[in-house]
Amino acid sequence: MLFIGGTKGRPRVVDSGVFFCPNEGGDRPYTHIVMKRTATVFFVPVADIGELGEYVECQSCGGTYELAVLDLASEAEVQDTPSRGLQRLAAAVIAADGFATTDERFAVLDMLNEHWGVTYTEAELDRDLRAGTEDLYLVLENAGSVMNLDGREGMMQAAVYFRPPISP
Ligand SMILES: [Zn+2]
Repeated sequence: MLFIGGTKGRPRVVDSGVFFCPNEGGDRPYTHIVMKRTATVFFVPVADIGELGEYVECQSCGGTYELAVLDLASEAEVQDTPSRGLQRLAAAVIAADGFATTDERFAVLDMLNEHWGVTYTEAELDRDLRAGTEDLYLVLENAGSVMNLDGREGMMQAAVYFRPPISP
């Protein structure tokens, strides 16, 4: 009896999103692909029988990478980092005297949203006030690592702007 069976690899997309493509140096769409080993009969795939490996493929340049490439911060995330630092810093400064007043909260939300173009909701501010300052240093360190000198200076000015009045 003539029976032609075998196996072949078939790519299956299991996830997709936006990542920082090292080849192109910018944010690009990607697909996360798992190669399935498929049993074939007369060259027709009939069943998945295992995995051959997985990789990330850039949808722009076609470059393929190990999954670890997804751990790199995307451009959008890098741009977000200073905003996050500013939010946390402002929250920490108005809470530094132990209590954030309604006026202080309003000042922070108004200044960030209206003047510095950083979206910051009341709920986010509340969450940051509750979070305290334990990881603040890390957040600021991350922000500092992606900011230029102007950005760092702006951050310092923000801290001074929101500081509680010094009691006599
Ligand atoms: Zn690419």
